[in-house]
Amino acid sequence: MDVGTTRVDLSRLPVWAAGVLALMCGAILAFSGWSEWSSRNAELHNAEVDLGNLARSLTQHVEDTFELADSLLRGVVTALETDDGKPGAIPRLQTILKSRKATLGRIRGVFAYDEKGDWLATTEDVTLANYNNADREYFGHHRNSADRSLLIGHPVQSKSGGQWVITLSRRWNHADGRFGGVVLATIDVAYFAQFYRQFDVGHHGTISLMSRDGAVLADNADPDPRRLGRPIVDAIPYHPASGILQFRRFGETLQRIGFYQHAQRYPFLILATRTEADILAVWRHEAFLRIAVLVCLVALIVAIGVFLAKQVLRRQQLAAALAAKEENFRLLAEGSSDIVTRIELDECIGYISPSTMRVLGWHPSQLLGKRAISGVNPLDRPQLQEMLEQIKKGVVDEARATYRMRRRDKSEIWVEATVRATRRPDGTLDGFVAVTRDVTQQKTLQGRLETLAIEDGLTGLANRRRFDERLLEEWGRAYRDKTTLGLLMIDIDHFKAFNDTYGHPAGDECLHTVAGILADEAQRSSDLVARYGGEEFAILLPNTDSTGCLRLGERIRRALHEARILHDHNPPGFVTASIGAAVCRPGFERSAGPASLIEAADRALYAAKDGGRDRMVMAGEVIELPSGKAPATVPA
Ligand code: GH3
Ligand code: MG
Ligand code: MG
Repeated sequence: MDVGTTRVDLSRLPVWAAGVLALMCGAILAFSGWSEWSSRNAELHNAEVDLGNLARSLTQHVEDTFELADSLLRGVVTALETDDGKPGAIPRLQTILKSRKATLGRIRGVFAYDEKGDWLATTEDVTLANYNNADREYFGHHRNSADRSLLIGHPVQSKSGGQWVITLSRRWNHADGRFGGVVLATIDVAYFAQFYRQFDVGHHGTISLMSRDGAVLADNADPDPRRLGRPIVDAIPYHPASGILQFRRFGETLQRIGFYQHAQRYPFLILATRTEADILAVWRHEAFLRIAVLVCLVALIVAIGVFLAKQVLRRQQLAAALAAKEENFRLLAEGSSDIVTRIELDECIGYISPSTMRVLGWHPSQLLGKRAISGVNPLDRPQLQEMLEQIKKGVVDEARATYRMRRRDKSEIWVEATVRATRRPDGTLDGFVAVTRDVTQQKTLQGRLETLAIEDGLTGLANRRRFDERLLEEWGRAYRDKTTLGLLMIDIDHFKAFNDTYGHPAGDECLHTVAGILADEAQRSSDLVARYGGEEFAILLPNTDSTGCLRLGERIRRALHEARILHDHNPPGFVTASIGAAVCRPGFERSAGPASLIEAADRALYAAKDGGRDRMVMAGEVIELPSGKAPATVPA
């Protein structure tokens, strides 16, 4: 299965998280908005129900009131029509009305007028003769209409009391059917106003008693001629008999919700209204608080979400950078031809790069956990152990060593390792990193170069450079140790002639042979045999006195004789050499230094040549020559 296709792309995690968070916040806000809208609608609905209940009860109340008034009116009409024309009828009616005054309750007054509008009787304490009501609208209506039903008139100002009253009136007839006059009952507008004010319909709410034509008969405000008798809203439907209205009152900007209820028995209706603002005031306040708290919470969630997303993003970036860095290091370690090793504090290998396979022949997994110095040549181990100790003690932080290691195939190579301490953030040591490189080739090359630098190519002896170095060293040692230092200068006799006779290659061969003889004769390890130049050799003899020099010189001369290298142009017929020797004691002599020793030996050599060759001359000494030739002396 392809793992790549099923793996979740974690780098898009913050984007997904932000999306989910935004979705959740959106959902929370949407749900809360929907919930608030629902509760708003519920508030409105409850208000409508309350207004409906109120309107229905108040309609009942007005009907009862009108019923009461109407029954009084019917009684008075009956009395008038029954006793019409009978003597004493009017005073009797007046008496009856007066007697009913105390029981009228919510009815303000009852009045009876004749066909001219003059007052016949009333419950009020007034002088009847002073008043005439022929000018009233209801009076005109009854006079002109034979309709005998109850008329509910627009509010008027009472002539007797001056207050605003609602009028309920009926026509009464004479026995012959002619218009006899009007019977009137009044109810104070203020009574309704006071009664309606007991109901809580909010600050701007209204309860209005209205005639079917829309004129206000009474409401919960103080009686006001600017409102009474006038419509407050466009036509209110008659069908259905009750219902909800949404409207603005004339001259008002407030949106209202109203419930109207028509009475069944009388032509009026009750309209109870509340402004939307009043209904929703509490809801608005609470909803505002709830939404504010919610928005704060959502903002907090968003802020936390953004913060966390940023953190995740930063971590991802850091992790990506770290991964890239590690990848680079891995590539470096694994692509390097050097071996990169992680050495733990216990000196065991924690990591070793794959190049170990090529350099040492071991697979990295075979070396993990092994001691880092286990493959090192035992001779070199103390050096490495010491180096690690030095780093552990903090004497140095980095050290380098060149040592031998055994490969898997048992062959040995030279490696150079740079070991460095690694530390924790608090500075304590937590291990080492070693970079090890195969330097076998360099080492071999270096050895060869070193040899080349000090060796004479033709004879294999030390060259002049090496001789000069050793002379200085030995001079210094002899000076310090107050010992003697001897020097032999050896020059082949008539070598030019040898070359000329046998050729240069033969000359080389001869030089090689002579060099071998010299090397064989100088037996002490501290002796140095060097090719001083051309066919001239020098032997440096530390800690050797003149006797020692003489003995060696003589051995050399004899060995050359015994070698019998053919040389026709040298009197003995074979190759011989002349030897000049000198001995010095630098610790006791005031001499000019190593050069003086060479000069002395050189002079002795010339003396030997001058003396006839194939002999040895000791500087500053007379030497008995074994061949019986005259002894030679040279100034020291
Ligand atoms: P003397 O007895 O006085 O030393 O005589 P000589 O001929 O040995 O002295 P000279 O200094 O005149 O000649 C030295 C000769 O050694 C000259 C040169 O041809 C020869 N020679 C020097 N170096 C080499 C060398 O490396 N190979 C060969 N074949 N000959 C060399
Ligand atoms: Mg020479
Ligand atoms: Mg010579």
